[in-house]
Parts: sequence; C-alpha cells; structure tokens
Amino acid sequence: MKGFDEEALKKLQQSGRILRETREEVKGLVRENMPIIEVCEKAEALIRKKGGKPAFPCNVSINEIAAHYTSPPGDTRRIPENSLVKVDIGAHVDGYVTDTAVTICFNHELRDMVNTAEQALKKAIEAIRPETPTSKLGALIEQTIKSHGYKPISNLTGHKIGRYLVHAGASLPNVAHFSLSKVKAGEVYAIEPFVTFQNAAGKVENSPEVTIFRFVKQKSLENPYAKKLLEHMEENFRTLPFAERWLKGLIPQKHFKGAFQEILASKAVMGYPVFIEASGKPVAQAEHTVLITEDGCLVLT
Ligand code: MN
Ligand code: MN
Repeated sequence: MKGFDEEALKKLQQSGRILRETREEVKGLVRENMPIIEVCEKAEALIRKKGGKPAFPCNVSINEIAAHYTSPPGDTRRIPENSLVKVDIGAHVDGYVTDTAVTICFNHELRDMVNTAEQALKKAIEAIRPETPTSKLGALIEQTIKSHGYKPISNLTGHKIGRYLVHAGASLPNVAHFSLSKVKAGEVYAIEPFVTFQNAAGKVENSPEVTIFRFVKQKSLENPYAKKLLEHMEENFRTLPFAERWLKGLIPQKHFKGAFQEILASKAVMGYPVFIEASGKPVAQAEHTVLITEDGCLVLT
C-alpha cells in the first residue's frame, strides 16, 4: 500500500482492531446512571490491555454536548436516563492512530437520529476512493442526513490522520462546500457525520468547560512541579491530546492545581473546549477510520 510499508500497515491495522474491539465492549457496558468516569477509564484500560495506547482521552459526550467531554479527575457526573451518549475513542500503536465513535441511545425517540448518522457514514464509506473530492463526500453526507429529515452539524468535520497526529490538516466536512481537495490512495481518514434535529442550529459552540489538553511547546517555567508535569506531557503524549486524569500521582497533590494553572497560563499546553450544539438540541455521531486503497477503502475500525 502506497505510503505504508508492510510493518506500518500491520501497526495501523492492529490499532484499528484494538479500537473496534474496545468500542464493541464499551457499547455493551454503558448503562443509565453509571458514573461517566467509569466509562472513560474502562475504555482507556481496554485499549491498553489489548496492546495499544489511547490516542486521546475517551470522550463521553451526552445529548446536546457534541464532542470533547472527558471526565475531569474526581468527576461525579453520571449517564443521565433517556440520554444519547456518544463514546468517541482513539488508539495508537507506535503512533499509528485510529479513531472511532458510537452513539448509545437510551431514548427511543432518538433512535432514528442515531440510525441516520450510521447511514450517512455508510454512504460515505461506500463512495470514498482515490480522487474523490471532499466536496462530493460532504454533499453526500448532507444529502443522506437531510433525506432522513435531520440536519448535519456544519462545523464539525472528519479529518485526515497522520502518524502521532489525530488531525493531520485536511478536513472532511459533513456538508456541501467549495473545495478543490481530493482524497488520495494511502491516506488515512476519520469520517464522522454528526446529526441533529432539522429545527436545530446545526452548529456547535465552545462551552467554557475544558477537559482535554495538548502539549504545544516547551517553556521555561519557574515552578519545579510545573516543569516536571510539562516534561512528562511532552515525553508521554507528544502531539496527542490528554486528560488531566492521566497526570495523577506525578507530583504531590497539594501542588497540582497551581502547577497545572501555571502551565496553561504559559501557553505551553492548549485546551480543547467542550462543544455544545448551539440551540441545545441532541446530537448523534458515527465514526470510522478508513485507509484509502487503490479501488476504495479499508475500514480499519
Ligand atoms: Mn473521534
Ligand atoms: Mn475523529
């Protein structure tokens, strides 16, 4: 395969298999009233147990929260009754990243919205091949969602994946748009339609809450605890997002808050705000990672 030698391809496929198994196991264990942190920790532990590493914290985004929520340390929130729960996970094996998501539905009235997201993903997977314009994929996803009576989220997109990179530049919008870009054989993409009600705003906004972070650049910090934390982030997560939970026990608890605040203030680390549907309507998501092959694509997850 173009862009991948045999060993790299094996690692990429292993990453996808670990993630697929994890997604299916997590799907079977999420229950109403379960602590959200339990879902996050179980998913991340499964990825590790199967021989991968989480490529980003397990996202558990509920109802109108569209993406980017993971449990902060000591999270007491639970899966609400009658909710729509998006579990979005990522794994990597030696930097070969895969990304997948499933929506678990505890509300019968929202079942069709979930099916619509899955249908849109299926259509895109059937259509994607070398030289497919990203504008054509966006139009196809949008048309599929609208034909079911729903609306796509216009400002959340699929994305190209690179080594140690969840978002490697190019994006795959879920709506018709002007672009000259085309997908190429040997490229890896996450395709992820997000669906909401027709009368919703159909876009997300940043919430003030931030639970996911990423190392940006090294900075000289005065506080020795901040320095130690930042070095750990650079060595262990590199260019990949992480959760505050993953830093537990590295420095004495009483110094943690101050050190973490200092790192954020220095801009050595960036935060990803939680995304909320702008009109407060529920959002469903489906996602797979695919490798573009000579005559179509290989679904890795
Ligand atoms: Mn994802
Ligand atoms: Mn993704």
